[in-house]
Amino acid sequence: MTERIDGHTILIGLMAYPIRHSMSPTMHNNAFAKLGLNYVYLAFDVTNDKLPDAINAIRTLDMRGSNVSMPNKQKVIPLLDKLDPAAEMIGAVNTIVNDNGVLTGYTTDGTGFMQALKDENLNIIGEKMTLAGAGGAGTAIAVQAALDGVKEISIFNAKDSIWENAKRNVEMINEKTNCKATLHDIDDKEDFRKEIADSIIYCDSTGVGMKPLEDLTLVEDPTWFRPDMIVFDTVYAPRTTKLMTVAKQAGVKHVFNGLGMMLEQGAQAFKLWTGEDMPVEYIHDLLFS
Ligand code: NAD
Repeated sequence: MTERIDGHTILIGLMAYPIRHSMSPTMHNNAFAKLGLNYVYLAFDVTNDKLPDAINAIRTLDMRGSNVSMPNKQKVIPLLDKLDPAAEMIGAVNTIVNDNGVLTGYTTDGTGFMQALKDENLNIIGEKMTLAGAGGAGTAIAVQAALDGVKEISIFNAKDSIWENAKRNVEMINEKTNCKATLHDIDDKEDFRKEIADSIIYCDSTGVGMKPLEDLTLVEDPTWFRPDMIVFDTVYAPRTTKLMTVAKQAGVKHVFNGLGMMLEQGAQAFKLWTGEDMPVEYIHDLLFS
């Protein structure tokens, strides 16, 4: 690392709280080193109250950009100069690019999800998806899938604080894309079963299955799944969630955790900052083998 840093090294940040557990610094710094790029990626504890100063520092220090994560993904929007259309629709930003003082906000969670499927040679364009969850990850996945040409999305959510956001997502997708989106109550199990049975892909973006809920899954019955479908959990710790176990019991061929999505959202940000393709397989092996 010290061999790489000199007077020309370009800084990229990660602004969130808490953030010290993040794998992003390891991912990006190893990718810079592998490609011989003179960048460094550092994590900063940034809460909402520090965010305006932190964003201004991107301009002041001529940083190339930053990732932002919770609690800043929505709050950062008014502090930027421009938004990518998908970020505007989703109402959240996870990547900022600084072009000579002009800050543009992007969101790469949705494109990361779509790319993770492409990496497995799986096509969901023109098909139907059932999606559990309409929070940050669920919104990004639904909007990007709709923009990319998924034909129909049935979104299931609990009648909790996210329900209004789920309603907004459905209205926005129906208004702005050719995809038909519908909203369903996740407690209506028969409706949930039927919509999954009619879909090529079931994706869970709720975090149920992640610690401390690692013994839980929203779908407990393997007969809800068909072997020819895709089951995707956005959770990547643990590597095999309860949902994935149920899907495997059903003989589902294409069962994924959120690792591919996590790597690809990073790779999309890497490309926006550097113009280069992240060596995804190398990073995957480095972090996870
Ligand atoms: P969020 O808080 O914004 O949304 C959570 C969603 O889950 C909401 O729709 C909520 O209604 C639903 N939910 C929560 N508890 C539930 C329960 N017990 N039953 C049914 N629904 C429930 O969270 P988020 O930022 O969208 O993250 C969700 C998950 O996605 C987390 O596990 C996170 O780690 C993961 N994630 C993964 C990636 C990746 O790259 N793989 C990226 C972003 C998020």
